[in-house]
Amino acid sequence: QIITRFAPSPTGFLHIGNARTALFNWALAKSMGGQMLLRIEDTDKERSTEPAIRAIIDGLDWMGLDYDGEPIMQSENLERHKEIAQQLLDSGHAYKCYCTPEELEEMREKARAEGRNAFYDRRWRDKTDADAPAGQPFVVRIKAPLEGEIVIDDKVQGKVTFKAENLDDFIILRSDGSPIYQLAVVVDDHDMGVTHILRGDDHLTNSARQTIIYNALGWNVPVMAHTPLIHGPDGAKLSKRHGALGVSEYRKMGYLPETIRNYFARLGWSHGDEEIFSSEQFIEWFSFEGLNKAGARMDFAKLENLNAHYIKEADDQRLFDLMVGLAEELGFEVQKAGLLAHEQTVLQALPLLKPRAKTVLDLITGAEFIFAQRPLQFEEKAEKALDPESVEMLRALQPALEAIESWDHDTINEVMRNFAEEKELKFGKVAQPLRAALTAKAASPGCFDVLELFGKDESISRLKETTK
Ligand code: GLU
Repeated sequence: QIITRFAPSPTGFLHIGNARTALFNWALAKSMGGQMLLRIEDTDKERSTEPAIRAIIDGLDWMGLDYDGEPIMQSENLERHKEIAQQLLDSGHAYKCYCTPEELEEMREKARAEGRNAFYDRRWRDKTDADAPAGQPFVVRIKAPLEGEIVIDDKVQGKVTFKAENLDDFIILRSDGSPIYQLAVVVDDHDMGVTHILRGDDHLTNSARQTIIYNALGWNVPVMAHTPLIHGPDGAKLSKRHGALGVSEYRKMGYLPETIRNYFARLGWSHGDEEIFSSEQFIEWFSFEGLNKAGARMDFAKLENLNAHYIKEADDQRLFDLMVGLAEELGFEVQKAGLLAHEQTVLQALPLLKPRAKTVLDLITGAEFIFAQRPLQFEEKAEKALDPESVEMLRALQPALEAIESWDHDTINEVMRNFAEEKELKFGKVAQPLRAALTAKAASPGCFDVLELFGKDESISRLKETTK
């Protein structure tokens, strides 16, 4: 059975790039009937926060990405990391380095002058404890191979090679005895039984270093896959303005989780020409071959259109609940109260609002005409549609509407057509001002839809208010 993992550091919100890594790991695990584990890499106690941990868990939950078992906190494995460092010391794969900061700075300068990346000159590599200065602090360094290559057999990038001479005898334990990230990751992945590591290609060099640790321990290196990061529309690094946001920001902009899953799956992975697919399909189709080698570019217009698609498909009651939830989250008190007080009307209106909406936010705005405070506040365009002549016309229309006994689409239609004919007006010259008078909005569903939605009493009452 395969085991993947998502291993975020809780130092900020759940970034969309990381969420996409989770999405791929989730699909990989599900596609192979395996498990995805969640490991919170909280060893940096200064930067790791409780709200950030919550944001990760809530973000995954909102996206519908379930993981197996309880989250594993990396900080709880500290003793185990130290134990393995000791094991590496005992087996001669690691050594204590007593260099002072000054010595290290000297080495760094020398390396800089000679244009080398790896700076440490390995001066403690072959010393024994007998050489150790008593009572001096030390770090533990791994004995990295002196020559040859470290090869990562990457499922996305193919073979990626690193020259051993460019990888230092890097530190695995700090002088305060705390483990370095590289060691913690290897030990945890091994202990968790992780078989497949899929992460951003910003981790490639880490993977080379981690491979050195795996080899030193005689452990199997998991299958590795590194995906290119998401780029902005211009091909540059993804900026905040171009979508480098937390998952919760996408929620607050009114995107549906299925949109986010579909869009970000497609961004970096493909299956033929398929653009719109369910998560079930994504899982079924998922394979390493589908992961793109080149970085994908974020396209907000595409994201919006996809969201519009999923909004049209979504269940009305679910959308209503999302509208209320979002109004609450954004502090839109009036809208929240209005929605709740007019639930039935809003539900009735949703089939009319859905085709016009790109986000849940659009749905809330679109529903505002239903619960707008009276007296109505007219949007400019609606106001324009209500010139004195039109208001006069609406006054004349009112008794005809009031006389209608059976308030249905056909009857209203007939009455209005007759009225228009009588007044020698184009039908639009009646319908447009009427719609504006009832909704006070520049855009809304059509006149008949609005009349039916409000019912007779509300329609007449609004008409009276506008034409008085
Ligand atoms: N904690 C690392 C990060 O958030 C990821 C570690 C990993 O995937 O190995 O970038």
